[in-house]
Amino acid sequence: MRVRSAEFKKRSAETARDPRRQAALQMLYDGLHKGRIAAAAATDNWEELRVKGRAIKWHTIRNLDYYLELLEERVVANGGKVYFANDDAEASEYVMGVARANDVKTVIKSKSMVSEEMGLNEAFEEAGIRPVETDLGEYIIQLANEPPYHLIAPAIHKTREEISDLIQQAAGGPREEDPKDLTKTARRLLREEFRTAEMGVSGVNFAVAETGSIALVTNEGNGRMVTSAPRVHVAIMGMEKVIPSMQDLSTMLRILIRSATGQRISSYVTIVNGPRKAPEEDGPDEFHLVIVNNGRENLLKDPQLREALLCIRCGACLNACPVYRKAGGHAYGWVYPGPIGAVITPVMSGKKRAKDLPFASTLCGACREVCPVSIDLPTLLLRLRSDLAEGKAAPGERSSVLMERLSFKIWRFGMLHASAFGLGGRIASAGMWPISRRGWLRRLPPPFSGWTSSRDFPRIAFRPFRARFRSRGGG
Ligand code: SF4
Repeated sequence: MRVRSAEFKKRSAETARDPRRQAALQMLYDGLHKGRIAAAAATDNWEELRVKGRAIKWHTIRNLDYYLELLEERVVANGGKVYFANDDAEASEYVMGVARANDVKTVIKSKSMVSEEMGLNEAFEEAGIRPVETDLGEYIIQLANEPPYHLIAPAIHKTREEISDLIQQAAGGPREEDPKDLTKTARRLLREEFRTAEMGVSGVNFAVAETGSIALVTNEGNGRMVTSAPRVHVAIMGMEKVIPSMQDLSTMLRILIRSATGQRISSYVTIVNGPRKAPEEDGPDEFHLVIVNNGRENLLKDPQLREALLCIRCGACLNACPVYRKAGGHAYGWVYPGPIGAVITPVMSGKKRAKDLPFASTLCGACREVCPVSIDLPTLLLRLRSDLAEGKAAPGERSSVLMERLSFKIWRFGMLHASAFGLGGRIASAGMWPISRRGWLRRLPPPFSGWTSSRDFPRIAFRPFRARFRSRGGG
């Protein structure tokens, strides 16, 4: 997927001015955020579960090589195949190879954020294969040809009228407005796809190393259909999705589902243990597990930023974040929006391309408070801000512009030398005089224009404070 994070300021300003999008974003707060608060309050040992979940994830991340190898061994023992992809291109190539080998014409998909990273739908289309999203939200945004807006509610920004138009275009027939009718129509269209598709592609909420199983959480049952109806199933996961045991899975599911939707348990939890074995009647003939790196190694290598790999993609930090709730999901310009996106996008896709994202936070701490694995997102954002200010970016990148670095060098020199500071103040004051009115500047020229984008700037006094202090008899 193309990274458009450099457009954050422009796109977030557009969303902030759009009343329809603002109404949808408020629904996230009133629905999912308040639901999560109620679910946590109704769980006696909620804090204990969070501590346990965090410990499970830290233990796995610290021993990632061991658990990934164990997972591979167990999946193969179950009759599946495992492929480790270093980047999105390698992962796509493998999936295309499986599709070609099985003469696939149509692929049904259940929700997978990693497949969004890979731009898998575009790759299928280029290969002449028809991808069909089966999660209702994903189906809507596929019809709209848009990326997801939220980690668990991809079409939350769409109004009922917009959805009605999209479904009518797909189904033909009379226009429907009632959400129940719209859902029924989508269900009828998707039923046929489930029946005929040759291959299913799913994401992975958790992969259990000790048993070689993958677990999927859905509310529509589409995940179960995608993983069992077609004759080939390909599951795609980021390498941080592995956990050690089934017992750990029960803890992780409890914190994931409550944090994501406020439910105690989702309608469906599907556990897949490889391809169909005799005498089983359901399930695919082939099972492939694609484990994707795609920049996660950059996080893993950094002793502080690797904490972001604890993320279980529940979306709670998005719903709690006052910036996400104004800027909206598309402003972040890549697959992962909100506070977690502001941390992982710059590291996974390049700090220069996403240099505004770590600053898209008030550092209020709401994200850390709601995170089921207590990721210290504000500290990670501060760390990235510091990297950017210091000019530390990915190899080959300079994150701060030359002018900015030069300005700070001049400023440092002035702060260390009183006479230079005084002279600099007089020069700046004289330079500001023609563009100021009654002692204030409305607009500073670049590279200082950011200072005046939302407030006026006072003209620097021509006589410095020390001179005035002395003239009034100060020491
Ligand atoms: S950072 Fe925490 S709250 Fe945000 S999506 Fe990940 S697990 Fe959920």
